[in-house]
Amino acid sequence: MLYTRSSQLFAEAEKVIPGGVNSPVRAFKAVGGTPIFVKSAKGAYLYDEDGNRLIDYINSWGPMILGHAYEPVVQAVIEKAKLGTSFGMPTELETQIAALAVSMVPNIDKIRFVNSGTEACMSAVRLARGFTKKDKIIKFAGCYHGHSDSFLIQAGSGAITFGSPNSPGVTAGTAKDTLLAKYNDLENVAALIEANKNEIAAIIVEPVAGNMGCIPPNKGFLEGLRQLCTDNGILFIFDEVMTGFRLAAGGVQELFNINADIVCFGKVIGGGLPVGAFAAREEIMNYLAPLGPVYQAGTLSGNPLAMAAGLAMLQALDRDRAIFQRLEEKTAYLAAGMEKVLKANNVIFTINRIGSMVSVHFDAAPVVDFQSAAKGDNETFKKFFHGLLQEGIYIAPSAYETWFITDALSYEDLDFTIQAVDKVSKTF
Ligand SMILES: *Cc1c(COP(=O)(O)O)cnc(C)c1O
Repeated sequence: MLYTRSSQLFAEAEKVIPGGVNSPVRAFKAVGGTPIFVKSAKGAYLYDEDGNRLIDYINSWGPMILGHAYEPVVQAVIEKAKLGTSFGMPTELETQIAALAVSMVPNIDKIRFVNSGTEACMSAVRLARGFTKKDKIIKFAGCYHGHSDSFLIQAGSGAITFGSPNSPGVTAGTAKDTLLAKYNDLENVAALIEANKNEIAAIIVEPVAGNMGCIPPNKGFLEGLRQLCTDNGILFIFDEVMTGFRLAAGGVQELFNINADIVCFGKVIGGGLPVGAFAAREEIMNYLAPLGPVYQAGTLSGNPLAMAAGLAMLQALDRDRAIFQRLEEKTAYLAAGMEKVLKANNVIFTINRIGSMVSVHFDAAPVVDFQSAAKGDNETFKKFFHGLLQEGIYIAPSAYETWFITDALSYEDLDFTIQAVDKVSKTF
């Protein structure tokens, strides 16, 4: 496949946009080459500027769980756009999506909408600090909670890919309030709490990590964190920006039957438009302005186009709960198929999977935290990535990313992908 027009467009973009991209994960820095410029997408496929068709395993980094240009979402946006694109005043639509989200997700009474996952996590932490009147937070190495200052301490995803897990520009003052723990290591967290008695406002976690590849929590890890939070007056924040409305209608809280105190959303909840949200029980949410003292706001928050897209998406997921089972089956099929051919070709690898999240790591040891995720062989990953791209399959251009499986994928697409993995891994 040729990507000549994409390369030309990238050269133009680089002149006026830093690195040619508006989010670093889109760059091909970790794998070499230049990004693909997309023209349109439908269902499981991307169509690029060179006229190539690619099977898409990124799906806008998660939102397109039902496939690209999903008709009810597109229609809802078109209809709303005709009525005006922003008012800065309340609309009935906001209550409709809020009520639906509250009905689908366990253990939340109220939800506030923002414009990105970053904003959701940033606001959730401010709320937790205001509510507990404490300053410090615990986050886990390799977990990504958006690009706000408090979280760019050993952050995952693009931050690791580009070698800046600790970004310049974050002050020492801010960094000192973020304590860093090891994912899947309860004793480490308990020790941090002990060393910072009565100073910790919140523990924020990706309850299934997805920004250092896919890393499910070990048995007892989330339960243990829940207990530590309860025992120490700490709020437990689930960052479900990736997992919310993906691993189950009610996210990881439902999947593992664990209650968080504050839950953050993004990605799927916006149906492909810029939406984030955070939610909690009433007592906590009432701490927000205008009811309470913690300030949080947004000119375009609850935007009608974004809410229309999100509502259409949540309604589709709410109506057809079997979708989560279908996604599980498709992803299990893909993972098993890849495992078989990689083994047959004597490749050293580990595949992690839960529900519709899956990642391939080129290392033999189990991948359970940031340290083990970082051991993967990036040279092999580069060959894997470019080999698949030549076959018309698009995965994330970084070994630290999860694949997002969409319901639009057919079993023919999955078989084609497994065959491509077979072909490509023979060349390693
Ligand atoms: C994507 C992501 C974010 C950030 O969301 P943006 O919409 O990119 O700001 C936060 N947390 C997790 C777990 C994510 O996967």
